[in-house]
Amino acid sequence: MTIMKKNQIKTVKGFNEVLPPESFRWRLVEDKFRNLLEGYGFAEMRLALLEPTELFSRSIGGETDIVEKEMYTFSDRSERSLTLRPEGTASVVRAFNQYSLGKISEINKLYYVGPMFRYERPQKGRYRQFHQLGAEVFGEASFYQDAETLVMLAQFFQALSIDGIILQLNSLGCEDCRPAFREQLQSFLLERESLLCGDCQRRIKENPLRALDCKNPSCREVVVDAPQINESLCGDCREHFSGLCGLLDDVGLDYQINSKLVRGLDYYTRTTFEFLAGDLGAQNAVAAGGRYDRLVEELGGKMTPAFGFAIGFERLMMLAGDKLGPLSSPFVTLIPLDEEALRRLFPIYVKLNRDAGIATLGLQQKSLKSQLKKADKDGAKYALIIGPDELEKGVAICRNMQTKEQTGIAFTELEETLRRLYQD
Ligand code: ATP
Ligand code: MG
Repeated sequence: MTIMKKNQIKTVKGFNEVLPPESFRWRLVEDKFRNLLEGYGFAEMRLALLEPTELFSRSIGGETDIVEKEMYTFSDRSERSLTLRPEGTASVVRAFNQYSLGKISEINKLYYVGPMFRYERPQKGRYRQFHQLGAEVFGEASFYQDAETLVMLAQFFQALSIDGIILQLNSLGCEDCRPAFREQLQSFLLERESLLCGDCQRRIKENPLRALDCKNPSCREVVVDAPQINESLCGDCREHFSGLCGLLDDVGLDYQINSKLVRGLDYYTRTTFEFLAGDLGAQNAVAAGGRYDRLVEELGGKMTPAFGFAIGFERLMMLAGDKLGPLSSPFVTLIPLDEEALRRLFPIYVKLNRDAGIATLGLQQKSLKSQLKKADKDGAKYALIIGPDELEKGVAICRNMQTKEQTGIAFTELEETLRRLYQD
């Protein structure tokens, strides 16, 4: 536990920061994500963190948890309402329209990595500033795109040796078939109104689908027998969904169909999905997303089908455990035992790092024992020790950190010898 002095300033409650050595693990995972996505033809977007509030109320939808109670909304100095982005999709679509990215190439595959902000109750796996890895594909209406993206996500989890993740799928239909289902569900819910929580009672009129994924136990019980959306899909939506399932079957990607999976955002059409991990307890969704064929148009762009997802970085890291492989470590640690040795080692330190590109640490004036301990902890392959004796003889001690074998290397040959050892 960190002890805070009275006059110290702390982060805002629930804002998750990532410190070393955890930040090294984050970078390893982030690199894997970037490499995988760029291999699939995605390019990175680095977007604004603060957006006009209207962007989210219009895209995510008014009757949703995010817009109703989770947004960080402020007025700036000219009284304009701004919101710290609670998710990435709306911003990517905003940028897609703003910069006419659809004109540059017909399909655009874009990804982002960064912080998101939601005013939620902080707890394990749930923060007010958290991070997402996400991606969006524009311009492809076919279920092949849904399948490719889901396969890529599963591949990402596999590359991190995370197993036991379950993919749940659903289809929310389209503007042709959803209204009829919505009405059917509305009358089902109205008949049972008194059994629903206040939120759901209110939502019957505006957004009845949200009752399907309400966490309240009594609502859950009510919706067990609710009409199922995948039974009222139109022909095209049915074909899209069964086409997707067929492709996933062909490549052996397991999934469960969950007809209650509606997601907390209004912009989805057809496919929605979540990747769930039992190991995460109550906050068990590690990634989620789906198709949103109307959103680009709704935000003022040209009609463009789209599919996207977001992975919760914090939850992903809880699953990734210690299986990430070695963190980057120095090749050699320099251990000066006095001021003069330090002086002597400094040009070598610079030459190795700057000229030879050999990762070198050191230059601390602590006891030999503590410096060797640190070299060991850092995972250095060699330690180079110079004290008064070595200075007199002009020979440094080179210690193989693994075998503990020690050899002498003349100062004049240090750089060359280390370069050779490095290349071996
Ligand atoms: P949940 O049902 O857990 O609230 P959500 O449906 O609100 O999740 P999305 O908006 O789909 O989440 O975001 C995608 C992913 O981002 C989630 O699956 C989760 O891993 C992560 N996530 C969402 N909210 C938070 C949060 N407050 N803190 C940490 N991670 C989060
Ligand atoms: Mg949520």
